[in-house]
Amino acid sequence: MSGVVDDGVSAVALDMPSSRLPGFHRRSVDARWRELAQRGDVSPEELRVLRALGAPSFDVVNQMIENAVGVFALPLGLGLNLTVNGRDHLVPMAVEEPSVVAAVSFAAKVVREAGGFTADADPSMMIGQVQLTRYGAPEVARERVLAGREQLLALANSFHPSLLRRGGGARDVQVRILPAPEGPQGEPLFIVHLLVDTQEAMGANLINTMAEGVAPLIEQLTGGRVFVRILSNLADQRLARASCRIPVDALADFDLPGEAIAEGILQASRFAEADPYRAATHNKGVMNGIDAVAIATGQDWRAIEAGAHAYACRLGRYGPLSRWTLEQGHLVGRIELPLALGMVGGATQVHPGARLGLKLLRVSDVRELAQVFASVGLAQNFAAVRALGSVGIQKGHMALHARCVAVTAGARGLDVERVAQLLVERGSVKVETARELLASFQEGPSP
Ligand code: NDP
Repeated sequence: MSGVVDDGVSAVALDMPSSRLPGFHRRSVDARWRELAQRGDVSPEELRVLRALGAPSFDVVNQMIENAVGVFALPLGLGLNLTVNGRDHLVPMAVEEPSVVAAVSFAAKVVREAGGFTADADPSMMIGQVQLTRYGAPEVARERVLAGREQLLALANSFHPSLLRRGGGARDVQVRILPAPEGPQGEPLFIVHLLVDTQEAMGANLINTMAEGVAPLIEQLTGGRVFVRILSNLADQRLARASCRIPVDALADFDLPGEAIAEGILQASRFAEADPYRAATHNKGVMNGIDAVAIATGQDWRAIEAGAHAYACRLGRYGPLSRWTLEQGHLVGRIELPLALGMVGGATQVHPGARLGLKLLRVSDVRELAQVFASVGLAQNFAAVRALGSVGIQKGHMALHARCVAVTAGARGLDVERVAQLLVERGSVKVETARELLASFQEGPSP
């Protein structure tokens, strides 16, 4: 289906189906599947994967990890309304927490009406680390390593000639000398960084092979001894950035003017900048979105988490990954974080759910994938700070959490919605209250 500018406000590319699916959350799951099939988002075979909860066959599972005994499924939802650089994306999100998918969809709709997210991402430059010890004078060792730069790059690339053919490969060698953690009596740390463009791959295996491969040459050049050789998950040469710009008037909600909502958001942003206790929760909200899409597309989410939080400390103190400012009558949000993602390798092609997730996203390459991830993180953060700075997070969250509470108490079928609604109305979203309600259903016609 060709992309239709269905709401008259977004610049949707003509070859991209819209991410705006009004009323999707109210439809039955069959109707949702039908719509995805009609739009051409999923083939009949992929529909079977969705119906089978995206689970790989046991043969595949058994190849993926050790001691496999089963498959652990998570709910898969679609984040809607996202437009990034004028292109629409349905966002597959695998997550157990209620309200994450709704929050992204809501925020993306507000931003879409303001022109959508603008995003960019660096090339896939990853860092391999080689730790050299017993090297003698640090400056002499540094000179020897840097003098051997071309030799080291050629050797690294010899381990992955196909990467070189694809336009990637080892690009640079750097030396970092760090103070010994034991103090002046210890040998300073001598770390060689190998910078590698991993193209469409996340790159961990590629880099590890190269780092192990060049280690003997580093020993030969310096006379030192190498111990640790592995990639760094602080992928700060591979950053993605997203921003959005929302007219303050468009923020008006909850009977509050736009200025009041904007002020709450700015205060939440200041709070996160000043206080690591708040920044940790601020970034947890960002990662609610990013982790969910990472899982749904087969990414190494531990690597993404490690990189994001290490980057959040780059100024010497843990800080927020996103910030909000007021600029000429607009609320402006910006996010920047390392995103070591892959369109190939890892689980991306092995896991049928991950393959489907990548297909649903309709990104052309790994840099566009990172732009979407960064936008999802900023969208999630917008929804959180907007609620936090105004009516509080519980109002929306508890309404969605109430369904989980109803199911925990034993509600099934139509009773789930009925119990959830009553829990919210009574202002007591508790399992005990849900049990009482269910018991009262059995006793009489209506509580
Ligand atoms: P893989 O080794 O699984 O796959 C990458 C391979 O894909 C490349 O070596 C290349 O092989 C092939 N390929 C095909 N097309 C392209 C292309 N366009 N661009 C680049 N490569 C291409 O994955 P990675 O090296 O990306 O490593 C990721 C995995 O490593 C993840 O599963 C992660 O969990 C794991 N890991 C993570 C660690 C960490 O984060 N600390 C540590 C160790 C592992 P060829 O050239 O032969 O076709």
